[in-house]
Amino acid sequence: MRAKRDYYEVLGIGRNATDEEIKKAFRKLAFKHHPDHNHNDGAEEKFKEVNEAYEVLSDSDKRSAYDRFGHSGTEGIFGQGSEGFDFGGFGDIFDAFFSGATTRQAPQRGADLQYRITITLEEAAFGCEKEINISRIENCSLCQGTGSKPGSQPSRCPNCDGAGRVHRIQQSIFGRFTTTATCPKCYGEGRIITDPCPQCRGTGQEKRQRSISISIPAGVDDGSQIRLSGEGQSGTRGDPSGNLYIAVSIARHEVFRRDDDNILYELPINFAQAALGAEVEVPTLDSNLKLKIPAGSQTDTVFRLKGKGIPHLRRRGSGDQLVKLLIVTPDSLTKHQRQLFQELNDTLSIPKDKG
Ligand SMILES: [Zn+2]
Ligand SMILES: [Zn+2]
Repeated sequence: MRAKRDYYEVLGIGRNATDEEIKKAFRKLAFKHHPDHNHNDGAEEKFKEVNEAYEVLSDSDKRSAYDRFGHSGTEGIFGQGSEGFDFGGFGDIFDAFFSGATTRQAPQRGADLQYRITITLEEAAFGCEKEINISRIENCSLCQGTGSKPGSQPSRCPNCDGAGRVHRIQQSIFGRFTTTATCPKCYGEGRIITDPCPQCRGTGQEKRQRSISISIPAGVDDGSQIRLSGEGQSGTRGDPSGNLYIAVSIARHEVFRRDDDNILYELPINFAQAALGAEVEVPTLDSNLKLKIPAGSQTDTVFRLKGKGIPHLRRRGSGDQLVKLLIVTPDSLTKHQRQLFQELNDTLSIPKDKG
């Protein structure tokens, strides 16, 4: 915020100017800077400044308050940021006056915690139990979070007499105001700890290592988040704890890819198996299955193994496993194999393009 100019300086008059002189100076400047006939940059700002100065100096009560306290008198009431506000011009002063100051601190709910965990695709498919170790803030085990030495009680705050807020009477250019603020001694609680707990030194909290077992449901997807309510940092003085969020990543599988709840698998077979047909073993998430490949199968043909995918997380049933044929051409041949291929080649027609 730009520093406010002195009102007398704004109107270009002396500190003992008469009412008549103030009015004359105002009329001249208001006309000069009026947005209706002055379109220069900053004219509107000037116009407002002139009006503000005139509003105060033309009123004998306001003027005498301004003479005694100046701008700093008005800033002293609401400034200092004791409530976290930053007050500026007149509008702000009125807003603050009518809305009143905050008197009760919001509950200090504990912060949320996040923990990342990586599991295998099989664990994601069938669910698993995991044990994790976290470090978190908990209620002090000796005083149960009160902050007071066991057997002692907090006492009423002498500064606010237990109300948690204090009233201040302030002088300003508009007269006397009563403002209300959170008590700076007890921070709004109304009570102060006179005999602090020796273990937490009165904070009511301590840091602890915890081992937490989490149960990851079958069908969980990569990037899922599991919420454990109330397992985050504890709140202050009995306010609720935050949550613990478990972010789940699924490690890349050696042969399977996941597509929603389906499992994709590429099955390599050789040229003879494709031509003659074969029965081959196919791995699935939980066992090996026999798959019959008909004679004359083409590469990229997909077979569907019903229900062999990942269980649906929120409904009954499972996805499928899709098995795609990949016909692998041999990259080295024995002399004999070479001869057989040569004989085969003499009898086979050349495949036509698909057009
Ligand atoms: Zn304690
Ligand atoms: Zn207090």
